Amino acid sequence: MNLLDLTPKEAQSTIAGWIADRGEPPYRTRQILPRLWRRPATTWSGATDLPQDLRVALDREFPLPRPALERLQQSADGTVKFLWQLDRDTAIESVLIPEGRRRTVCISSQAGCAYGCVFCATGLMGFQRQLSPWEITAQVRELVIADQFETPSHVVFMGMGEPLHNWAAVDTALTILNDPRGLGIGARRITVSTVGIVPNLERLARRPEQFKVALSLHSPSGAGRSRLMPVERKYPLELVLETLRSFSKRITFEYVMIAGENDADDDAIELARIARSLGALVNLLPLHPGGVPGFEPTPLPRIRQFATRLRSLGAHATIRQSRGLDIAGACGQLRIEVTASGNVATENHTGVEQ
Ligand code: SF4
Repeated sequence: MNLLDLTPKEAQSTIAGWIADRGEPPYRTRQILPRLWRRPATTWSGATDLPQDLRVALDREFPLPRPALERLQQSADGTVKFLWQLDRDTAIESVLIPEGRRRTVCISSQAGCAYGCVFCATGLMGFQRQLSPWEITAQVRELVIADQFETPSHVVFMGMGEPLHNWAAVDTALTILNDPRGLGIGARRITVSTVGIVPNLERLARRPEQFKVALSLHSPSGAGRSRLMPVERKYPLELVLETLRSFSKRITFEYVMIAGENDADDDAIELARIARSLGALVNLLPLHPGGVPGFEPTPLPRIRQFATRLRSLGAHATIRQSRGLDIAGACGQLRIEVTASGNVATENHTGVEQ
């Protein structure tokens, strides 16, 4: 059994049952559980705080799977991109973005993506497969191991894939990330970014924790959005915004600025209206290379003008700094290709909050 695919509560009761069956004292559960996420063990045999016979039995009953680190790239700005091999045919990327004391890790929830947004390199890959809870949370757990039990301060689901298209696994992964017996990261420091998969947005809204939500908006109108994001045909913007109104959680709008597509003054007026009505923060970011050819980024002076216009209309707006561009680790740039031989080749791509 893979304990890392369970919630901490489920893992605790599984271990407690197993310990009782073996006739071990109950306190062993309190020794074993932290070695899953809080002070993660690489193998049970390395968990030398446990007796030898117990370690052997744990390795046999509950082996601890780990992704293989295929490649690590460091940007000139300190951003680090990781390429993880999950199995022969599947690889994913995650990105660590240090900023002062803050260490944000941007994680993937799927290998590839089915949604095909024009500005996103992952969308060009197509969908490969869903990740399981352990594969999602391993992108954080491995950093905790590498940093001698230091946990990243923030997690964003802005890597490869649409997290709400993999709700069952993401639901469990959110619990593992947040639970004090798991990775123990505060809910307000965990952001789920989505294009707006309405039924699962409703499920996320019903969770009691204050996870943050980022809507990949990219156009304030349904017509404009449908040119950029095929999801608009299934879940129209009006319906997505209606669902977001039921959120007590803080909402951010992600807005990739594309020249001549979504950067007109009328766009600013409509965007400000929507943002005000939801109390949302608008995050503007330039288009990065890697998506469908033929789209150009809005020049920086125009992005600044657009932000000023939003603020003059009463909306909260920030311009997000591009990080990790030189290693193709910036927002919308994550992409991995599997060659005919089954080898993994990375290209210029990711989807990262900076
Ligand atoms: S932006 Fe998100 S939903 Fe759209 S194609 Fe990229 S990974 Fe998929």
